[in-house]
Amino acid sequence: MADETVPGGESLAALLHEQRRFEPPAAFAAQANAQPGIYEEAAADRLRFWEQQAERLEWGQRWERVLDWELPFAKWFVGGKLNVSVNCVDRHVAAGLGERVAFHWEGEPGDTRTITYADLQRMVCQAANALESLGVRAGDTVAIYMPMLPETVAAMLACARIGAPHTVVFGGFSAEALAGRIQDCDARVVITADGGYRRGAPSGLKPAVDEALQSCPNVRSVLVVRRTGQDVAWQEGRDVWWHDLVERQPTTHEAQLFDAEHPLYIMYTSGTTAKPKGILHTSGGYLTHVSATHRLVFDIKPEQDVFWTAADIGWVTGHSYIVYGPLANGTTSVMYEGTPDTPARDRWWQIVERYKVTILYTAPTTIRTFMKWGEQHLEGHDLSSLRLLGSVGEPINPEAWMWYRRHVGGERCPIVDTWWQTETGGIMISPLPGITATKPGAAMRPLPGISADVVDDQGRSVGNGQGGYLVLTEPWPGMLRGIWGDPERYRQTYWSRFPNWYFAGDGAKRDEDGDIWLLGRVDDVMNVSGHRISTTEVEHALVGHPAVAEAAVVGASDPTTGQAIVAFVTVKGEAADDPSAGAVLVGELRNHVAKEIGPIAKPRQIILTPELPKTRSGKIMRRLLRDVAEHRELGDVTTLMDPTVVNMIGEKLAQTP
Ligand code: ATP
Ligand code: MG
Repeated sequence: MADETVPGGESLAALLHEQRRFEPPAAFAAQANAQPGIYEEAAADRLRFWEQQAERLEWGQRWERVLDWELPFAKWFVGGKLNVSVNCVDRHVAAGLGERVAFHWEGEPGDTRTITYADLQRMVCQAANALESLGVRAGDTVAIYMPMLPETVAAMLACARIGAPHTVVFGGFSAEALAGRIQDCDARVVITADGGYRRGAPSGLKPAVDEALQSCPNVRSVLVVRRTGQDVAWQEGRDVWWHDLVERQPTTHEAQLFDAEHPLYIMYTSGTTAKPKGILHTSGGYLTHVSATHRLVFDIKPEQDVFWTAADIGWVTGHSYIVYGPLANGTTSVMYEGTPDTPARDRWWQIVERYKVTILYTAPTTIRTFMKWGEQHLEGHDLSSLRLLGSVGEPINPEAWMWYRRHVGGERCPIVDTWWQTETGGIMISPLPGITATKPGAAMRPLPGISADVVDDQGRSVGNGQGGYLVLTEPWPGMLRGIWGDPERYRQTYWSRFPNWYFAGDGAKRDEDGDIWLLGRVDDVMNVSGHRISTTEVEHALVGHPAVAEAAVVGASDPTTGQAIVAFVTVKGEAADDPSAGAVLVGELRNHVAKEIGPIAKPRQIILTPELPKTRSGKIMRRLLRDVAEHRELGDVTTLMDPTVVNMIGEKLAQTP
């Protein structure tokens, strides 16, 4: 019997219904980078495993010790020295690969650029020289607020090259959010663009920088890339065009070595559960982790593959799997500036076809959007180049997983559902393609070299078939080195729930085979009449109904049951607009959940709504829905995609019996 005090304790049966298994195709397995035995090998000597991964990088000075661990502070590859940008660019050019394409870049209006490793090296060197001419020195932080451009990558690598930690702020964020981050990490230089293209129109960035800097007096220089040609306000002495300053710099730059633990960047978390945290990553361990996971999880063959992480560089996914991991491995990537429905809903499939993308990595929210739009948008596009698909960001609903497999992967591509966090730096729990038989919706097993467990309240490992808290029980190379400027919050957030382990904040369950399924945030677990039910499982059940596109479930306080389940649902057809069809559907959905999970999981209310509140990285923000459902004032909304959505949902809720 499941333990009632832990997430997923009651409704485990629902996900355990999932019986579908997909064995790795034999041909894939035969050529895979990860071969059976890798788990045992890593388990036998974890530190040696990571050391071998680090040996794939170019070090100016070898480390003395693999790990120094003084809980909760880790140092990896102690005494080692390297330059991250040399590892991502120069060493490939030196190896004769200068003509290999680093990025097939495509702008939203349809303009394209091909950036080879030799091009990238020149761009990075020029940008590094330019930053130095602006007085940026090792240890100074630089804020980057840019659209998805090759210059964005060059700016990040230029910072890395001179030892100046960057903080990339997603271009969709407001002036206020930008100012908060600039102040928090005390950036003195900002790199931006006049604007970028979103949804078919130029959208300004420089105005937000101008506004943000009114409350950031320490910023002395703003370097501006011209992208859209929009008119911009100009502050002489502070603002300087990229094409004036960077493009007249020498195309070579002597890179210095930095300590393995030199800060590489600060990335703010998505803000799904709370106010964003400034997560610090350093150099040697991080680069080791992201390059190794990129090679093993995505089975990268740099001579052949065209890799596409369809995420924004402003998220950790972009940092680790558009920039640092792929470039360290000498990969050819696709980079796309805009939205998936501009000019039409088949834009991604055109891109896959045009560049013969072999590996696609994206988020469940996007897959559900494509499901909502319908598979007709994929038809007529040749997607046969694809050989592997990845998912990240949220638990993927089994139905979305199946759709991805069928309509994008043509039933032939393995899917890797990769669990990780801004804090972990890189992938932690995921199938290994070619080895793992996958299950729709399961992240499966910790990667070689990673130690994770699912434990109960007391920190006891749960048995198979049981749910609990996901913890990481050993340090790993890509782990955060702290929360910027707030060591107390670092201890409190991650290291206080269990004394010796990193607490991820996520609930998880082990199935009968011992494989791991993520159940969403621990904060999102509901307590209905003493039964612990995970929001993820109720959402999976709802999304399994053919009429449902997306679902967000929260527990709202209830006088009789303690908490009651409230579900917010977007539907595929017309039911949303037709009140009588809507009422019928709601009844049907309540019964559907009761049938899939049990009567206890029947939602008290189901609200049909055209949109769900999401973070700008596309994750559902349940904490705001909880605030709405309990008629509370909303918490931090700075990372919310569209603030009007919550008001609209509040009104819908008021009208729903
Ligand atoms: P904040 O910490 O500010 O609330 P956040 O947790 O959304 O924001 P991220 O670091 O971007 O910020 O997201 C990490 C979280 O995303 C994980 O803790 C987990 O809840 C979820 N997640 C990521 N990948 C997966 C996955 N494959 N399966 C399930 N959940 C995932
Ligand atoms: Mg988090």
